[in-house]
Order: sequence, then structure tokens, then C-alpha cells
Amino acid sequence: DMSNAIVAQDEMGRPFIIVKDQGSKERSHGIDAIKSHILAARQVSTILKTSLGPRGLDKILISPDGEINITNDGATILSQMELSNEIAKLLVELSKSQDNEIGDGTTGVVVLTGALLDQSLELIEKGIHPIKIANGFENACKIAVENLDKIADEVVIHEDLKDNLLPSSDLFKAAKTSLGSKIVSKSHDKFAKMAVECVLNVADLSRKDVDFELIKVEGKLGGSIDDSKLINGITIDKDFSHPQMPKSFEDLKIAILTCPFEPPKPKTKHKLEISTIEEFKNLQDYEQNKFTEMIAKVKESGANLVICQWGFDDEANHLLLSNDLPAVRWVGGSDLERIAMATNGRIVPRFEDLTPEKLGHAEKIREVVMGTTRERMLVIEGCENTKTVTCLIRGSNKMIVDESIRSLHDSLCVVRNLIKDNRIIYGGGAAEISCSLKISEEADKQKGIDQYAFRAFSQALDVIPMSLAENSGLDPIETLTTLKSQQVNEKNSNIGVDCLGNHQNDMKKLFVIETLIGKRQQLLLATQLTRMVLKINDVIISGKDQY
Ligand code: ADP
Repeated sequence: DMSNAIVAQDEMGRPFIIVKDQGSKERSHGIDAIKSHILAARQVSTILKTSLGPRGLDKILISPDGEINITNDGATILSQMELSNEIAKLLVELSKSQDNEIGDGTTGVVVLTGALLDQSLELIEKGIHPIKIANGFENACKIAVENLDKIADEVVIHEDLKDNLLPSSDLFKAAKTSLGSKIVSKSHDKFAKMAVECVLNVADLSRKDVDFELIKVEGKLGGSIDDSKLINGITIDKDFSHPQMPKSFEDLKIAILTCPFEPPKPKTKHKLEISTIEEFKNLQDYEQNKFTEMIAKVKESGANLVICQWGFDDEANHLLLSNDLPAVRWVGGSDLERIAMATNGRIVPRFEDLTPEKLGHAEKIREVVMGTTRERMLVIEGCENTKTVTCLIRGSNKMIVDESIRSLHDSLCVVRNLIKDNRIIYGGGAAEISCSLKISEEADKQKGIDQYAFRAFSQALDVIPMSLAENSGLDPIETLTTLKSQQVNEKNSNIGVDCLGNHQNDMKKLFVIETLIGKRQQLLLATQLTRMVLKINDVIISGKDQY
């Protein structure tokens, strides 16, 4: 158990592990420590390996409070595993970092790292020093990355796609592929279309820039996946504060308030003695006047809709109704920000600050009832900032909604990545096989220890196509051997694993693609983490008598 360990960095930025000193201890030889770390990390990657690819197995995750989650998303599986080993925890960080920057390839990066660590162990057993292995891997990775650039292809992104999205368009096909292994398979076309439309709506194609802040993915229980839809605008998971307020109206001028929409209550703030009926009456009048003043301020600004961060009581609510001011209460901070951004309005903290320029503008608001349920939500459409979109994801249970959101997220990321950089490589292990072949060719030209490290790196890359094959019920070694000779003989680096039984190995023909930046990131991150583990040298492990 290494739960006392923390990872730190020295002043040169080199990582090392500190294990808290407790009782008697034994100083473990650097190499033994590395071995034990690798073994722990291997357990994690072995679990993820079986989830890789379109035929990967789903995992059932049961949280400590009994919540059940079924997924084959690597990042999700890892985040729910309780890991005490520090290196295993680093694998989780690794996967998260791939997720944050790229949004895809989170399982692959962990499987590749596990394979590299496995290979390192074998080299260590042969007596090769970990630092030498680390350096060899770094050189091999450079060659792999250069090879990726060489074999990369490009997808075409048409400017007019937004209005005329053809199923034959590359972006659509790419979005669809990235949904491949996930639970929403029956709604593939719909989700792929949603992802592309969403990203194109917010993208700046000339600057190759996509602002994800403008896309909100909102899950709502009930209905079926097919009820999911794209809304050109924003949703608020609330209804109007009074049932008699209009259910929809147009030409919105929105006051977005963070000040409580109710009269100040002196009785709770100061000890106020009320002894006579007259005093009580005065207080009531005071409250009433204050409130009328607030409403007057809002009306003066020209607002016809109030969106407020706070609640207000029945009396206040009634006054709003009788003054023709529809209102929404208890709207969370991040929703307020989104509304402000979408409608070009400003968040106003005090009634005194409210001016016409600070109001948000949109074409209309309407209350939507969710299928047969009694749940409602508000939809604001035709926002002044037309770039804001919301993907409303429906599903009959939480698990389906969550998994659909994750799949859509992957798809959104792929489309965004392609707009930023339209270079792709072919998946199904094709790119890994090509790099593996290249590195093993280079291995023969190396003189020193590097030739071992290169061969090991090449074998680690083979684990990706082998896992894909295994998960699809194919013989991993036979498949790999066939694919390799096919790539060499046909001089075609697009040959990969036919996971879905299409009788076609050419991933270009099947349009199984991955983004170049995503694949490059996987290789770099996996190599970096492996090198880091190999360079840990001084570890103190607590003595046995402590357990
Ligand atoms: P990750 O979380 O790493 O994206 P996935 O479970 O989504 O993991 O699997 C991705 C792997 O599956 C990639 O190697 C990708 O090329 C491959 N893949 C996806 N779809 C197909 C397909 N239809 N045929 C073959 N390989 C596929």
C-alpha cells in the first residue's frame, strides 16, 4: 500500500515520490520501487484494455453509495476507481489531461502507457538501466510523431456546411465515428448531426477557432434519446415564478439581477419592537413601498422579463404578476452568466444600477413541457448573440443521459479539433501499426541500447491493434501479423483492424479516423509518463511491521 506517498517535483521540475516516514522502514532499491509501480499501473491498464474500441466491453461501476453507472468511457471508469497507488493515480491524471486538451482517446492513452510500462519491465529484467530505457523511448517517440505527420491525411471542411450538412460530409462522418463505441448507437445520425451543427454554429472558420463556452450540453431525465435536440439559444431549468404569467412571449428585454427581489426586512436585521397596530401597518407600508419602487425601477429600464438569482415570497410574486413583469427566480450563477452572454446583457447587482443598456435581448421565450412528465423548462431563442446553442439530451434514466452526454462531448471535441486542424490519421490501430513498423525498421540502425528500447516501443504500439482485435473476437497475434504484412506489401498505412466485421481492412474506406493532434498527444503523454516512472529513483517504503 502506497497511500502515504505523494508525488513532488524537484527544483529542476523532475518528479519524485515521497513516502511518509512511519515506524521502521526499508530503503527500497530504485529498481525494485520502479518494478512495484509498474505492476500496480498494469492492473489499471489491463482493466481499460478490455474497453478499447467499438467492441470494447462496458464496465458496470457501482459507487460507494450504490449508484450504478455503465460505461466504456476510459476517463469515467478511471475517475470512479478507488486507487491508492500513486502511479495508478497518475494514469488517471494522464487520462484527464488527454480529455481536457483533446476530449478523445482517453482509453487509448492509458492502454498505451500500460504497454510501455510493461515493455520497460521486461527491459529492466534484462538488466538495462531505467534511465537508458527512458531515453530510448523518447527517441522512439520522436520517430513515431514524425511518422504520424507523414501518413496524415486531410478532411475537407466546406464553408457552406452549416446550412447544408450532407451525410457524406467528412465532419459528419467523423462525428459519427467518434460516437462509435458508445451507448447512443441507435441515435448515431441524430447525435452526429447535432455535434456538427453545434460546433459550426459557434465556430469562426476563418480563424479556425471554436469557443466551447458557447455550447451548453444539458441533460434532462425523461423521454427517450430520440427526443434530444439542438436548441438555437439557451435553456433554463426553471419555470415562471407564477403560474399565471404568460407561457411565452416575444421581443424580450431582460433584466438579469443578482440582487434579491424582495423588500428589505428590517425586522430580521434589527431588533424592531412592534407594539402597536399602527407601527405594524407602517412597517407593512414601508415594505410595500420599497417593493413598488423596485418594480418601478425595472419597468423604467424597459425590461419585460426579470431573471433573478434569488427567490421572492408570495406577496412579491403577486406584485410582479399584477405589474405585468414575468419573472424567473433561483437562477444559478453560471446560468445567469450564460444568459447575459447570449443576450448581450449585463448582470446587475443593484436595482439602482439598472439601465436600458444593461438589458439582454432575445426574440422569444417559451415554457416547454417535457413529454408526459410534469417537468418544465424555459427556452430562450433568437438571442442577440446568435452563436449560443444548447444541446438538450433526453433519456429514460440517468445512466443513459450521462452516457449520451459523454458521447456527444467526444463528438463535439472531434469536430472542434478538425476545425482547428483538419489533419487526420486512420484508426483501428492503423496509425499505431505504421509507427510500429517504422520504429522497428529504425531499431536495426541503432547501435547501443536504443535498439532494445526501440523494439520495445514498437511492441508497445502493437498492443493497440491487438486489443482492438481481441475485443472484437479476433485472434490478436494472427490479426496483427496479417495487418503488418498487408501494410508493408501494399505500402498502405491505412490498414487496421476490422472491428465491426465489414470485410474491409482499409480504414480510409471505412472512414475510421482519429485526429492527428489527438493521436500525437496520446503518444507524447504516454511516453512522458513512462519516462517519469522510469526516472523515479529514490523511494523509501515503510517497513512490513507497520501493517
Ligand atoms: P478512446 O477513449 O481512447 O477514444 P474508444 O473505446 O473510443 O477509446 O476506442 C478508440 C479506438 O477504437 C481507436 O483506436 C479507434 O481507431 C478505434 N475504432 C473506433 N471505431 C472503429 C471502427 N469502426 N473500426 C475499427 N476501429 C475503430
